[in-house]
Amino acid sequence: MKAVIMAGGKGTRISSIASDIPKPMIKIGGKPVLEHEIECLREQGLKDIIISVSHLGNHIIDYFGDGCKISPSTGEPFGVNIEYYYEKEPLGNAGALFEIKDKLTDDFLLLNADSLFNVDFNRFINYHKKYKPLATLFSHPNSHPYDSALLITDKNNIVVNWLQKNDSRPLYYKNRVNAGLHILSPLLLENRPDTPKVDLDKQILKPLAGTGKLIVYDSPEYVKDMGTPERYSMVCKDYEKGIVNNRNLINKQKAIFIDRDGTINKYVGFLRNIDDFELLPGVSEAIKKINNSGYLTIVVTNQPVIARGEVSIDELDNIHNNLETLLGKEGAYIDGLYYCPHHPDKGFVGEIRELKIDCDCRKPKPGLILKAASKFNIDLSESWMIGDGKNDILAGKNAGCHTALIGTEDFGQDMSVNSLIEFVEKTIIY
Ligand SMILES: [Zn+2]
Repeated sequence: MKAVIMAGGKGTRISSIASDIPKPMIKIGGKPVLEHEIECLREQGLKDIIISVSHLGNHIIDYFGDGCKISPSTGEPFGVNIEYYYEKEPLGNAGALFEIKDKLTDDFLLLNADSLFNVDFNRFINYHKKYKPLATLFSHPNSHPYDSALLITDKNNIVVNWLQKNDSRPLYYKNRVNAGLHILSPLLLENRPDTPKVDLDKQILKPLAGTGKLIVYDSPEYVKDMGTPERYSMVCKDYEKGIVNNRNLINKQKAIFIDRDGTINKYVGFLRNIDDFELLPGVSEAIKKINNSGYLTIVVTNQPVIARGEVSIDELDNIHNNLETLLGKEGAYIDGLYYCPHHPDKGFVGEIRELKIDCDCRKPKPGLILKAASKFNIDLSESWMIGDGKNDILAGKNAGCHTALIGTEDFGQDMSVNSLIEFVEKTIIY
């Protein structure tokens, strides 16, 4: 698959760091951000690259050449084939695609050169090939969903609505944001919008929402924009700590599995009403700290209210959207959420019979944790399960994790704490 990298942005907000070089040439760990991107592609066998340049683009062309030369930063060959498209007039962030469409005869990767990423591209490509949409967006939760464009999908990850920053949004929403990495079909380039500049999101992708031809690929891998001096400095720190590379799902991950009721939100018996959902003190701060560490944040919760017919799956989804919205307001997010809808005891009015089973996922069984571990390639022996009950500790032990109890009883846990934040402060090495 060919990769097209859009490297023509002006990057005015970051000009205090570098005003005489284009943004993709700003260095992280001694190498231009664009070189990190090219290395990530090459290592996964993606060696045919087209770079669209404009503003100060000669710096990029001089540095990388046709991709066969030796890198001035590493002394190693770039080891790829690079072609360029030089934008003389500003064409917007998608105009160049229509100029090079003859070179794009198959589905292609479209990447933004303004962010640092390290992702398992073959996993992303295989997902796209399985569903064959016109476009697949690499999506993730971020620390500022309230001012980001949101992707609203159905249960099959098909985008049904694309809400720009200023569009009104539901009261509670899932933190799912377009990360700026895409796989597109060349069919999208058949008709060029009739404007001098073409905006990728507004004119090409957003109109596909609701057509069934636009899907998302959720991933917790590292993709971060470095468009402001603050974000740039954060990205540099993450790179130095090894978080950028470690988060690639080719590598084994480590996670903090967190129980929901009584650990994240106030325990109110079985939660049925969305308005009763309230985060416990310090939870957002704790999760934010996990987000900035090398661990994934994954919620695992028993929700027998579904089997009992007391809460519908849509209502439960909305409660979880509320959780994500509340965390998002504080700059925190979860990488995954798994719930068990089952309950073993039959014979109640209104119950959903097919969910009244002795399943493998109801804690203390380890099914939810094992499912997450399989999806995210998690090393459970490097991970923790934390909760406020015996079932949490036993589920963690059954899965082979370290365990922490919020409470004072002894269920054989490795650690006892008073709150999630206390656990995070004791455990996580930044
Ligand atoms: Zn279950």
